[in-house]
Amino acid sequence: RAKTVIMATGGLGRVYEPSTNALICTGDGMAVAYRAGAPLMDMEMVQYHPTTLKGKGLLITEAARGEGAYLLNSKGERFMERYAPTMLELASRDVVSRAEQIEINEGRGIKGCVLLDCRHLGRPFLQDRLGQIYAEAKTFANVDLAEEPLPIRPGMHYQMGGIKTDTEGRCWDVQGQWKGLPGLFAAGETACVSLHGGNRLGANSLLDTVVFGRRAGQCAAEYAKTLPPPTIPESAMEADQQLVATILSREGSGERAATLRLEMGTTMNRYLSVFREQEGMETAALRLHDLKARWPGITIQDKGQVFNTGLVAALELGFMLDCAEAIIMGALTREESRGAHFRTDFLNRDDEQWLKHVLLYHTADGPPRVEYLPVTITQWQPQVRVY
Ligand SMILES: Cc1cc2nc3c(=O)[nH]c(=O)nc-3n(C[C@H](O)[C@H](O)[C@H](O)COP(=O)(O)OP(=O)(O)OC[C@H]3O[C@@H](n4cnc5c(N)ncnc54)[C@H](O)[C@@H]3O)c2cc1C
Repeated sequence: RAKTVIMATGGLGRVYEPSTNALICTGDGMAVAYRAGAPLMDMEMVQYHPTTLKGKGLLITEAARGEGAYLLNSKGERFMERYAPTMLELASRDVVSRAEQIEINEGRGIKGCVLLDCRHLGRPFLQDRLGQIYAEAKTFANVDLAEEPLPIRPGMHYQMGGIKTDTEGRCWDVQGQWKGLPGLFAAGETACVSLHGGNRLGANSLLDTVVFGRRAGQCAAEYAKTLPPPTIPESAMEADQQLVATILSREGSGERAATLRLEMGTTMNRYLSVFREQEGMETAALRLHDLKARWPGITIQDKGQVFNTGLVAALELGFMLDCAEAIIMGALTREESRGAHFRTDFLNRDDEQWLKHVLLYHTADGPPRVEYLPVTITQWQPQVRVY
């Protein structure tokens, strides 16, 4: 019954399997806002981090490369010399992730990984400056970083896209250029104020949260003062209450949310990752369509009304399926390579055609409706990226 609402529900990392993100990153806010009529923007821009552990996708922080760690292939070559001769291992995340994936794809990887080599830094330095990574490598990969290199690979890490907002966190356009939802605000990873373009630089999430969270809060408070108390009919809750009742009452041995979730995650990681192309993404779209059709049939064992994690998982899966569909749609729509969105069938950035945002609107029973918004260029003109 609020006059204004701020979505601050974080990212959607669990749409992918594996991901560096926490289990709570299920894109709920994006899906709820999207279903209510707010557009999602730049959903195709999904960041892969270059150094994640095989298996669960645990993040190995950039600090390792910042302190001088090397990336090696199976031949012991520092392969970044070929891809980014100046910046080497410290080139941007998308560039390093793609380089690693090429090494792996061309047979110079080791069991689907390349190696993060910290040996030359020495044990005292590692324990002092990189203590957390040193401990994580030992605990989760049984690797002593002072003695042997750590197998790592690119892994899903961050969503640059999200609920379209202006710089005050508003999910509607006061100029009327795009349609949205008056009274709704968003901030943090769930929002897309378009700070990061197609590729966030490390540590810049602080801007999403600290700067634009504050701005959204201030604007929402001011806006609320101008509004009368809302009247909300009891019927507003009916559809959601009905959905929960239906899931709880469904008997039988239908599929489990976890089964569909794993299928969705591995599909996204296979076809919507570092490299993408039309045929693969169309396969992903078909699988997603199938998963969405199966979602209404899932059953949960726990029928309780209190702290029902099975029910939460079922609802979250519904949100994630919407987010996954939006990512695929955005990626199929953008026929170029830009930032984290790299298409092997459209290798180059095409500013003439694609210097614009992809906006997706939810539709009742079809694919998202696509619209475009121009990119506002102020001081810095787009340039060729060289590392
Ligand atoms: C391993 C890792 C390391 C990172 N390191 C850095 C870094 O060094 N620097 C940097 O800038 N960024 C980093 N990031 C990115 C950054 O952490 C995130 O972008 C940022 O935390 C997002 O903040 P947020 O407030 O938007 O969302 P979150 O911090 O995810 O908070 C969202 C909150 O909403 C809650 N929520 C979700 N759904 C619902 C719901 N349906 N109902 C109620 N509550 C809900 C969640 O439980 C959670 O408490 C890292 C990310 C990861 C995964």
